[in-house]
Amino acid sequence: MKKTKPTIAAERNYVVEKEKFVPVSQYYGEDTFNHKVMQEKLPKNSYKKLLEAINEDKTLDAETANVVAEAMKQWALEKGATHFAHWFQPMTGITAEKHDAFADPSGIGEVVERFSGKQLVQGEPDASSFPSGGIRSTFEARGYTAWDMSSPAFIRRTGISTTLCIPTAFISYTGEALDKKTPLLRSNRALNISALNMLKLLGSKNVKKVYTTLGPEQEYFLIDMDYFFKRQDLVLGGRTIVGAPPAKGQELEDQYFGSIKERMSSYMHDVEEELFKLAIPAKTRHNEVAPSQFEIAPVFEEANLAVDHNQLVMDTMKAVAKKHNLACLLHEKPFAKINGSGKHVNWSLSDNNGNNLLNPGKTPHDNIAFLVFLIATVRAVYKNADILRASVATYANDHRLGANEAPPAIISVFLGDQLTNILTNIEKGIVTEATNAEIIDLGISSLPLVSKDNTDRNRTSPFAFTGNKFEFRAVGSSQSISFPAAVLNTIVAESLDYLAEKIKAKAAKNINQAVFEVLKGEIKDIKPILYNGDNYIKEWELEAAKRRLPNDKTTPIALKALVTDKALNLFEKYQVLSKVELKSRYLIYIEKYIKDMEIEVKCLNNICMSQVIPAASAYQKILAKSINEAKKALGNSAVLSAQREILKNILVLINKIYSTNKEILSKVESASSIHDEAKKADMLCNKVKTKMDELREYVDELEGLVDDELWPMPKFWEMLFIS
Ligand code: ADP
Ligand code: MG
Repeated sequence: MKKTKPTIAAERNYVVEKEKFVPVSQYYGEDTFNHKVMQEKLPKNSYKKLLEAINEDKTLDAETANVVAEAMKQWALEKGATHFAHWFQPMTGITAEKHDAFADPSGIGEVVERFSGKQLVQGEPDASSFPSGGIRSTFEARGYTAWDMSSPAFIRRTGISTTLCIPTAFISYTGEALDKKTPLLRSNRALNISALNMLKLLGSKNVKKVYTTLGPEQEYFLIDMDYFFKRQDLVLGGRTIVGAPPAKGQELEDQYFGSIKERMSSYMHDVEEELFKLAIPAKTRHNEVAPSQFEIAPVFEEANLAVDHNQLVMDTMKAVAKKHNLACLLHEKPFAKINGSGKHVNWSLSDNNGNNLLNPGKTPHDNIAFLVFLIATVRAVYKNADILRASVATYANDHRLGANEAPPAIISVFLGDQLTNILTNIEKGIVTEATNAEIIDLGISSLPLVSKDNTDRNRTSPFAFTGNKFEFRAVGSSQSISFPAAVLNTIVAESLDYLAEKIKAKAAKNINQAVFEVLKGEIKDIKPILYNGDNYIKEWELEAAKRRLPNDKTTPIALKALVTDKALNLFEKYQVLSKVELKSRYLIYIEKYIKDMEIEVKCLNNICMSQVIPAASAYQKILAKSINEAKKALGNSAVLSAQREILKNILVLINKIYSTNKEILSKVESASSIHDEAKKADMLCNKVKTKMDELREYVDELEGLVDDELWPMPKFWEMLFIS
């Protein structure tokens, strides 16, 4: 390709000139309608009522809603907002918002800014085009958005436009969830009930609420925007569907945690500034393993907030990148044969006093609770590994899971040697140190603090205990973390209830003894899910099969776990998703898989027919001419054999590309007559995907033969190393 000069910092002058840098503490959260603002702007009584509504999950009376709306409007106008929007998370996986102007005609040629309690609490977007998986046919398209008071309203600036955004849930008029937020909120409620029950049973007092905490570590790539716009595969599908790996990849490991380049540092600074204004606690940033790959991680937050914030993080990263003439790639596998991007979702449970329930405590009592919650989680994952796998199944993530750098499609749990030993001892009933007469001292009172430094850093496990939290690593970098979190909450709630029942049945005895007897039996049962070894090796796959752990490698297979009787009953029982809702979600995910693949097929066809083959033909013509001219000068000399061979290879590849592409198109065509979406997805996955990979091999081989100046797309080495 005709080389453009890299758009280095000096040329682009992308660094926004800043007059002076203000300490973060001075502007943190300034674009959120937070408690400080509420206290300032609301009458005492209204603030009290709002707090009650937020904390106790109650509805707000109409009068207070009006007062809150007025205060919110005043605040937003001061911030320069002209519009308000109900901000929600439809099943597309990204966020949606419909803007309404505050300005409202108040007479001829005049307006006043208005915003009522009703407009704050409920909205009615024309939502016919959002996926509903058949719940709502388009002719009865009405759905409504409902204010989620637990996530603060915020100001969003795009260009010169400023909008007040109100986080909302999106529900159909018949009450079905049409979004990603609603099931998460329901799962939080379910987990709270089950966890409180368990804590009560274990004798805890003073605990009023238990909630999930989430800390998503977000990986991403940054490449120069000029390269990005020259690749339709990146623009349309988010990943390169052709392209050979660069001569230098990540083998030197010189990128991981290396010093961050000036341009990227400036970018990160700008991203963080935006996030801090929204009270998103961005904490760490570093280079990742692959060239041009990075990670940003926040301090963990309550689940609902963490999910909203992660969506805003992704939006902000993309928006700010443009200002720096960069493209932020969130796709799970933007570059074949180079590490992909995931989102390690750290998950734990906290009570309203801020105690982490997965933190091994200093007292025997805390340790018992710790063990119960730990084993409940492990059991939940064991019994529902298939559902957990389904929660991260997307077309994009298939390129990553099971490849040689991401956790495999087999879900297993890493606990580390120390905890595994403790569990083994409980199972065997070994008394290590009985310091007093209580049964609890069966090796437990001496449970050491499992600090993060103590737990081995097994990087290959899809679900690892890391000291005081679990880290779910199979989540894709571009996906919403809402559903994986909702699944975890639901299955753990079920496990806690199951254990509670068993403990109660034995509770005539000393409660601690009852707990240990139950745990002893459970540990034996759930052992197959525990694996501390390397998850990437072939032997593990064989071993996992022996242990009967599911190994669903592709999305169409993995998703089926959502519509088993087990899943349908479980989600219905915990009122997270009704059977109708879960089935509709299955359909939406399957349809998304099909559409994603169809887009790539069309894109691949365009690239091959209108870019790759023309470029190869042009070079072929040059070669042929050169051979003919040389032949004229030299006669049929043996020295022509090299050029002849190159020419022949190019022609062979052009033919292979043409015919494989044709084959793909005809397979997709015949798939279009399959009306059962699941069967169609199976067929595309089994018949088309492999052919696309084959086609890629030919194109990439050709890339190595055709004159660099003629190649129609930026190559990997340019995109990954020039910035
Ligand atoms: P790593 O070594 O995996 O990068 P970090 O210490 O950087 O680990 O933590 C990763 C993420 O885990 C951070 O977002 C952090 O806030 C989050 N985290 C820590 N404690 C908890 C917790 N109790 N619940 C949920 N997330 C947590
Ligand atoms: Mg991590």
